[in-house]
Amino acid sequence: MARGLLECKLGWRVGTGENISIWQDRWVPQLVGNKINTQPIHGSVQTVSQQIDQENRIWKEELISSLFSDEEVEAIKCIPLSKTRCDDCQVWQGEKTGQYIVRNGYKELMSQSDTTEISEDIQMVFKKLWPLSIPAKIKITMWRALRGFLQTGQVLFNRRIRNSAICSRCNLGSESLLHVVADCNNVKEIWDGIGISWDSNLNLETFWHWFIHLVQHKAERIWEKVVIAIWAIWWAHNKQVMEGISTTRQSTIAKILCMVEELKVLNEKLPVIKAVGSDCWRPPQEPWVKLNFDAAYKTQTNKSCSGFIMRDGRGKVMGSGVTHHGNVSDAFMAEAVACFQGLLFAKETGFTTVEVEGDSRTVIEKINQEGFGRADLDSVILDIKSMR
Ligand SMILES: [Zn+2]
Repeated sequence: MARGLLECKLGWRVGTGENISIWQDRWVPQLVGNKINTQPIHGSVQTVSQQIDQENRIWKEELISSLFSDEEVEAIKCIPLSKTRCDDCQVWQGEKTGQYIVRNGYKELMSQSDTTEISEDIQMVFKKLWPLSIPAKIKITMWRALRGFLQTGQVLFNRRIRNSAICSRCNLGSESLLHVVADCNNVKEIWDGIGISWDSNLNLETFWHWFIHLVQHKAERIWEKVVIAIWAIWWAHNKQVMEGISTTRQSTIAKILCMVEELKVLNEKLPVIKAVGSDCWRPPQEPWVKLNFDAAYKTQTNKSCSGFIMRDGRGKVMGSGVTHHGNVSDAFMAEAVACFQGLLFAKETGFTTVEVEGDSRTVIEKINQEGFGRADLDSVILDIKSMR
């Protein structure tokens, strides 16, 4: 879930250089913005791998000197190339040292989440949305939608990834989230088809305004349908934009109604209290919620996969998230990532009374280890404790 934030400052550590764009990516740590500033002049040289003598694992100095400024050449020559072949990997570049993706990422996330103007309203909405009995993937999509993290044409244009913000499906209007879910290609027919309408004379400028208007004017039992519809329409939009596969309005309508119906049946059948594994997970006392986190770590590749799940006193899932990370230095780091993501999620969604449960033995062992920079992590632990 926090991936979008993490990605915005990810740079590359050069391995083979095959995956790194010379002109687009952040790959030269010593330069401003970690990027090349010289304009591309050589159409055929695109990836960093082309500048490396792969056999001897050294930089092709002559080629580099012909392409870049002196300052850039010096900076590139400072990038170490390992003698054995290794893949490029993504690294956190939020701070100059780049030592600790966890600590840096954490600080960055906290500072960003504190400055969000509408975060209080968003939290208020989340509190109502989260207990709804809808799949976690839909809740996560809603969370991302409300925070402006969904990759609409408008977002991609603002981040200079696309040249135009014009909607690629209808070629009319800017591809904002509101456009995608409420305006594009007569998507309103889908809303009509599921029996949800709104006053189109109202000047609802953003997705947020539109969504708030909708939920404020509809009974809470309709909310599930609204959220499922947003998800389904976004899904169909993505399918079209990413894979060129179009979905008919009829099938989207059928999908939404089917999911609503399925959930209704499921909710009637399921007992409220669910046994969670045989490991006797104990529910927190209301109004507390419990955050469990865990991580898997692969030493050979420095990759980790971390996840968290947040449940209330009845064992109902309030939210969950899974993230893959590269360049994680050890298992502790992976666990810390999982933990801080879960806590950030809890904070964002407005839960202040959170019980945290994880593999504390590993965490404690690792904290006690002496070593470079380890003390930095204490601040994360302190922050984590102060959030409890
Ligand atoms: Zn459109």
